[in-house]
Amino acid sequence: MAESVELPGRLAILPFRNKVLLPGAFIRIRCTSQSSVKLVEQELWQREEKGLIGILPVQDAAEMTSMDSMLSQGVGSESCERSSNAQVSTSDAHKVDGKNPSEVIHWHNRGVAARALHLSRGVEKPSGRVTYIVVLEGLCRFNIEELNTRGPYCTAKISPLEMTKSEMEQVEQDPDFVTLSRQFKAIAMELISILEQKQKTGGRIKVLLETLPFHKLADIFVASFEISFEEQLCMLDSVDPKVRLSKATELVDRHLQSIRVAEKITQKVEGQLSKSQKEYLLRQQMRAIKEELGDNDDDEDDLASLERKMQNAGMPSNIWKHAQRELRRLKKMQPQQPGYNSSRVYLDLLADLPWQKASEEQEMDLKAAKDHLDCDHYGLVKIKQRIFEYLAVRKLKPDARGPVLCFVGPPGVGKTSLASSIAAALGRKFIRISLGGVKDEADIRGHRRTYIGSMPGRLIDGLKRVGVCNPVMLLDEIDKTGSDVRGDPASALLEVLDPEQNKSFNDHYLNVPFDLSKVIFVATANRMQPIPPPLLDRMEVIELPGYTAEEKLRIAMQHLIPRVLDQHGLSSAFLQIPEDMVKLVIQRYTREAGVRNLERNLAALARAAAVRVVEREQAVSVSKDVHKITSPLLDNRLAEGAEMEMEVIPIGVNNHEISNAFRIASPLVVDEAMLEKILGPPRFDDREAADRVATPGVSVGLVWTAFGGEVQFVEATSVVGNGELHLTGQLGDVIKESAQIALTWVRARVADLKLAAAEETDLLQGKDIHIHFPAGAVPKDGPSAGVTLVTALVSLFSQKNVRADTAMTGEMTLRGLVLPVGGVKDKVLAAHRYGIKRVILPERNLKDLVEVPAAVLSSLEILVAKRMEDVLEHAFDGGCPWRQHQHSKL
Ligand code: ADP
Repeated sequence: MAESVELPGRLAILPFRNKVLLPGAFIRIRCTSQSSVKLVEQELWQREEKGLIGILPVQDAAEMTSMDSMLSQGVGSESCERSSNAQVSTSDAHKVDGKNPSEVIHWHNRGVAARALHLSRGVEKPSGRVTYIVVLEGLCRFNIEELNTRGPYCTAKISPLEMTKSEMEQVEQDPDFVTLSRQFKAIAMELISILEQKQKTGGRIKVLLETLPFHKLADIFVASFEISFEEQLCMLDSVDPKVRLSKATELVDRHLQSIRVAEKITQKVEGQLSKSQKEYLLRQQMRAIKEELGDNDDDEDDLASLERKMQNAGMPSNIWKHAQRELRRLKKMQPQQPGYNSSRVYLDLLADLPWQKASEEQEMDLKAAKDHLDCDHYGLVKIKQRIFEYLAVRKLKPDARGPVLCFVGPPGVGKTSLASSIAAALGRKFIRISLGGVKDEADIRGHRRTYIGSMPGRLIDGLKRVGVCNPVMLLDEIDKTGSDVRGDPASALLEVLDPEQNKSFNDHYLNVPFDLSKVIFVATANRMQPIPPPLLDRMEVIELPGYTAEEKLRIAMQHLIPRVLDQHGLSSAFLQIPEDMVKLVIQRYTREAGVRNLERNLAALARAAAVRVVEREQAVSVSKDVHKITSPLLDNRLAEGAEMEMEVIPIGVNNHEISNAFRIASPLVVDEAMLEKILGPPRFDDREAADRVATPGVSVGLVWTAFGGEVQFVEATSVVGNGELHLTGQLGDVIKESAQIALTWVRARVADLKLAAAEETDLLQGKDIHIHFPAGAVPKDGPSAGVTLVTALVSLFSQKNVRADTAMTGEMTLRGLVLPVGGVKDKVLAAHRYGIKRVILPERNLKDLVEVPAAVLSSLEILVAKRMEDVLEHAFDGGCPWRQHQHSKL
């Protein structure tokens, strides 16, 4: 770079569109326009020594809008050859009028003189147009005094702007300049170090800092940055070296900051990348080291052990292939990768499933199996006989596709325990799958693995837990499955229970078929009615109706009490519950068909006894000491007033022995007072029915629920009104219709039943009838309340009480015929539990009584009704006095 340049008074001007050439910078331009080609030819190409030209920034009008006031205002054409009428104004600006306003350009009033370092000439084909490529070096700033745009190219009268040597020397003494120079140098050094570090230029740029004056360096630095046109112009206009230095310092600093930010971001990204890459490399190395050492535990061993587990799982060959494919995929994954864990869990399941592992079926000893069943369950003769037959068939033909047994009955009647006895008799493992409340088909079949949090269905999960492929699987509460938008679990169960289909049961999660044909399925349900018919069709229903009080007593004495005592760490030496007390528990504290609540109450007694025994144990240990205090030795010591505790503790006698001695001496015997203290006041008594039917308008019905038979009271009353019928107690449509029929029947027989004086009298005149079924929170439905409703209405209108010891069930037609109903056995048992003495049944239900235990039948008076009048005859004290009238009419 030249130290100082002698500028001529006039220079040819090359416009530099939206760009600025700063002193010390180099540019390479291609001249194609007529005027610029002319300029190059005349000023540079044809001259012997390389001449100087002026580079003047020009700006489009569009760019202009964003420019600050420093720039000149005006209009002009795009290029100098067309700007024939350019005018030099008195202001900073030079205005050139153009024809097209969109082509308006603005000339800056300061430029940089440039020297051509290299020229090359070219001729375009086929037009023959001459073009030049020029390499220019910016030398020094100048000011435009007058711009002439009239020639073939622009020329301008100029004046130099750079300081002379002496002026510069003066400025260099200026302390401000010195400070600014120092600042600039520091920041420039910093930038250079960073750049050199990055580009490994080995200190070449630093040399520049030492050799060039700072005001020139400022231009060179700024020229190398990508900054806006405005900032470039601003730099060009910084004629004063101090201004220039401070502006350059600011720009260098900004550039430095942006480099630092960019570096930080790259470092972060690189850091993240390299962390996972590093981990991967380290893992690979670790694996290699372990292989070398023959040391195969931990991480790698984890997958190896999984593979071993899979090999030993005995998968069928097609499934083994599938599992291997999945394992290969897993091995390629990194543990942190999404999907690794789910793949791992899936393979674990494949490896854990009992593809072939089965409990060994020993030669079944039928006698022992029978004894086992008898020993575990009291009564249930027919049911045990059926199970015995089932076992006998299995013994003769182990792979027989026997029916699926389904135990139906109220809770606590022993359904689950019978199923587990079957498993024990067959020497197989037992697993219970609860289906209560299952509404989603995926609960049976699993979710596809594409779902987040997908799981296998309950059956596959159960098999994994039990670990053998031939367990006895109890499908508990099969009647409680429902269907909704998420599919129908019952249809999936159909496939499970169908021996033809369950050989290749398809769980969505597992995604490979699993053979369920070796599983023995047993189902339980509280009621038969909700089980879908196709499912019911695949099962053999065995009904367990519930127990009589006598049976419950025997079950309690023989099975429940010993079990409960054992569960609480007691024995009959600690606690005795006499038969009378068990009877009281059955009568006063439970009114269920099964024995679950009974067992719970007995457990409460056992808990209380356990507390007392523990308390007494402590009491005994204290009393033992007291006893020893009265020894002769002690007496002597006491007489002497000495300390004596050390002597009184006998060696070799521990508390346990003493409390044992105590227990044997006095077991806790449950009495009535203790019952009330522990179980609270009696919950039920036989007087309930009598109390509730003490007023006219109430009758006692028998209904059937999921908990077995129940006694249901029906209450009717009349109030002033317009002859409307009100029904409450969460009633279904069928029961509501029964109430309508009952009312119509009674109204039609006002005179016959002597409910009103004259036949014409309307019973409902000025009255509303309200019928309520207590236990309003429980939904009720069914036709079997027909006779009970009529009886309640007749009682209401005749103002006569219904007999409290009589319960009834039966559907009634509009003409008064009594039709048979379902669940008679359960209903009769419920009546017996409630202490009811007489039961009115439809005549056609008599055949159902065969299933009722003889003991219950003998304690009840069964009354048969063919017509409604028969029911009324039995329901009221002294019979129905109006019956004779009826006969003649019907
Ligand atoms: P479910 O499955 O019908 O609801 P469980 O089988 O769970 O009833 O029986 C409840 C409890 O009653 C169990 O402890 C069971 O052993 C006992 N149990 C029920 N019936 C009998 C019976 N006939 N003999 C002995 N124990 C019985």
